[in-house]
Amino acid sequence: MNLSYWEYKTWLFNVDFTVIGSGIVGLNCALHLKEKYPHSKVLVLERGTLPQGASTKNAGFACFGSISEILDDLDKHSEEEIVALVQKRWEGIQLLRQLLGDDAIGFQNHGGHELFLKDNKALYEGCLDGMDKLNRLLKPIFGEEPFLKTKNLFGFEGIFDDYVTHQFEGQLDTGKLMDSLLQKALRQGIHILNAVEVVGFSDSGGSVAVETSSFSFKSKKVFVATNGFAAKLLKKETILPARAQVLVTKPIKNLKIKGTFHLDEGYYYFRNIDDRILLGGGRNLDFKTEETTEFGQTELIQNKLEELLRVVILPDEKFEVDGRWSGIMGVGNQKSPIIKPISNNVYCGVRLGGMGVALGSLIGKELADLIDS
Ligand SMILES: Cc1cc2nc3c(=O)[nH]c(=O)nc-3n(C[C@H](O)[C@H](O)[C@H](O)COP(=O)(O)OP(=O)(O)OC[C@H]3O[C@@H](n4cnc5c(N)ncnc54)[C@H](O)[C@@H]3O)c2cc1C
Repeated sequence: MNLSYWEYKTWLFNVDFTVIGSGIVGLNCALHLKEKYPHSKVLVLERGTLPQGASTKNAGFACFGSISEILDDLDKHSEEEIVALVQKRWEGIQLLRQLLGDDAIGFQNHGGHELFLKDNKALYEGCLDGMDKLNRLLKPIFGEEPFLKTKNLFGFEGIFDDYVTHQFEGQLDTGKLMDSLLQKALRQGIHILNAVEVVGFSDSGGSVAVETSSFSFKSKKVFVATNGFAAKLLKKETILPARAQVLVTKPIKNLKIKGTFHLDEGYYYFRNIDDRILLGGGRNLDFKTEETTEFGQTELIQNKLEELLRVVILPDEKFEVDGRWSGIMGVGNQKSPIIKPISNNVYCGVRLGGMGVALGSLIGKELADLIDS
C-alpha cells in the first residue's frame, strides 16, 4: 500500500509502542503504556474489523475457578501456583472494575454455581470432600471462605440437589466491557488500526521492523497480545488454539435463572443475559476438531448444547435459539499465561485460556511493565 505523507506521519512515524491484538490484554497493555508514558505514541494493530479472538466472543464470567476446576488444577500444579493464579484472577477483576466502573462493564455479582450431573456421583462427592481444604487455601485471598453448598433454586433437572457456589464469582456484559476499553483507549490518544494483520517483525536491537498485510514501519517496542493466534508470530512458545462454541436463546418470559453456572467439570457453562440464556462449551466432545484458529460451529457440539438446554437447564420452558458463534482461546501444557520478553524490544502476554475476563487486565498491565524489568 502506498501511504500518503499524512498517513505515515500521523500513524506510523516515530511509534514508541506497538501492541498487536486489541483484545482485553492488548487494550489494557496499551492503556498502561500510555498512562506511564503520556507523551508516547502508542499504536494498536488489530486484524479484525472488531477484535477477532476471544474478548468479544466470551461468556462474561468474572470467575476465579469453580471447585472442580481448582481441584483438577491441584492435580497438575503445585498449591502455590494455583493460589497465585486465583489471586491474580481476583486482582485482575478489581483492576478492571476500578479502571472502567461497574456500570460501564455491566458487572453484577450473583455468584457462580457448579452443578453436578446425577450420573457423575464421584465428581460430586470428590468436590464436597475437597471443599474445606480449598476454602482454607483460598480464604486469605477473598477474606471469606469462597465455596458453600447451596440448593438447586432454579429447577435444573438431572443434577444433584446441591450446587457448590463460589459466592464472589460475578458476571459482566462482554460487549460493554470491550466497548468501554476501546473508547477509553481512543480518549487517551491511543491509535487503533483495524483490519491490519501483522505478518512478521524483526528486532534489530535498536528498534523493531513490523510488517503488516498492508504496510511496514518501525516501532521502538512491540507487545504481542494475540493469544490463541500467537503461535503464528511466536514460533518458540507452546500456545495451542482452542475454539469454544456458544449459543444464545431468544428472550424467555419471566426467566428466573440468575448467575453463572458451570456443568460437567466446567466443559459447559451458562448464564442469564437480558432475559436469555447464553450457553457454551462441549470442546471435550471433539478436542481435535476444536484445536483450530478457524471460527465456526459443528453439529455435534451445537446439538449437545441444545440437548442440555432441553433436558437440564430449561426442562419446563419453550425456548428458541437466537444465535450461535465461536471464539478462539489460547491454551497450553501449563495453565498460567506466558508473560515475557521475546527479544530486546519484543514482549508477549498470551495463553489466557478460559480465564481472561478476570485475568486480562492484570496481564495487560504486567505485559506493559516488562519494559522496566
Ligand atoms: C466462547 C468463549 C467463552 C469464554 N468465556 C470466558 C468467561 O466466561 N470468562 C473468562 O474469564 N474467560 C472466558 N473466555 C476466555 C477469554 O475470552 C480470553 O481469555 C480473553 O478474551 C483473552 O484475551 P486476549 O486479549 O488475550 O485475546 P483475544 O481476545 O483473543 O485477542 C487477541 C487479538 O489479537 C488479534 N490478532 C491475532 N493475530 C493477529 C495479527 N497477526 N495481527 C493483528 N491482530 C491479531 C485477534 O484478532 C484478537 O482480537 C472465553 C473464551 C471464549 C472463546
